[in-house]
Amino acid sequence: MSELLIHNLHVDVDGKEILKGLNLHVKSGEIHALMGPNGNGKSTLLAAVMGHPRYHVSEGEILLDGNNVLDMDVDERSRAGLFLGMQYPAEVPGVTNSDFLRAAMNAREERPVSLYKFIKEMEKTIGDLQMKPDLAHRFLNEGFSGGEKKRNEIVQMKMLHPSIAMLDEIDSGLDVDALKVVADAIVDMYQKEELGLIIVSHYERFYQLLNPTHAHVLIDGKIVMEGDHELVSRIDEQGYDWIIEELGITL
Ligand code: ADP
Ligand code: MG
Ligand code: MG
Repeated sequence: MSELLIHNLHVDVDGKEILKGLNLHVKSGEIHALMGPNGNGKSTLLAAVMGHPRYHVSEGEILLDGNNVLDMDVDERSRAGLFLGMQYPAEVPGVTNSDFLRAAMNAREERPVSLYKFIKEMEKTIGDLQMKPDLAHRFLNEGFSGGEKKRNEIVQMKMLHPSIAMLDEIDSGLDVDALKVVADAIVDMYQKEELGLIIVSHYERFYQLLNPTHAHVLIDGKIVMEGDHELVSRIDEQGYDWIIEELGITL
């Protein structure tokens, strides 16, 4: 069992405070929908948890299984079991997708993964995501379509076996069929492994496929409302204005 505990988190970017005392608690076996209007700090939260240097934590705690995540660099966070599937995956010319994956896996293991085992697992995972086999041997994300980049983030997640995975708008840019393939891959992993998920999406349709156990609304740097899939449906129908009104939030 894994547990991510975020307490009173304050994060600033380029001197501007974006997260203003955020609390969140995620355990393996749970799927958390993280929703909120654009520009309120969802990506900032995930980047800060993963340790992106631009996101400066000024106050608060992040604990993974009781260990202080804020003391760890990005590699250590990955080894500890955290994973971030990014909203805008970077292109890395000169590094092939398979080299990148193998390095990321080896960084997490005591001993290097055998080449045979690695190739078998990579081919299977790429097949599961219904991606073209040559994507393994091309430079990471370079010239990948939007949908291929997003699927490739899921390939990484499946091969790294995190205990807490955060997926930032992983569904954007996917067509209806690809959305189903990606959702199925996530659910399959969730059912087979001890995995906790934080899913940022604007689409009810994606959440329906994943069936979140918890839902949170992030407005102005804080979680202001919590619920379950019914909250997701209500936001899909009515947007966020009713929440802002009901809670008397002034932006
Ligand atoms: P969301 O993911 O909820 O749409 P973000 O976390 O991306 O919101 O952004 C929250 C706020 O922080 C926005 O005002 C955004 O412009 C600002 N911000 C986020 N990342 C950066 C960055 N790297 N540089 C400058 N401003 C940023
Ligand atoms: Mg956004
Ligand atoms: Mg975002």
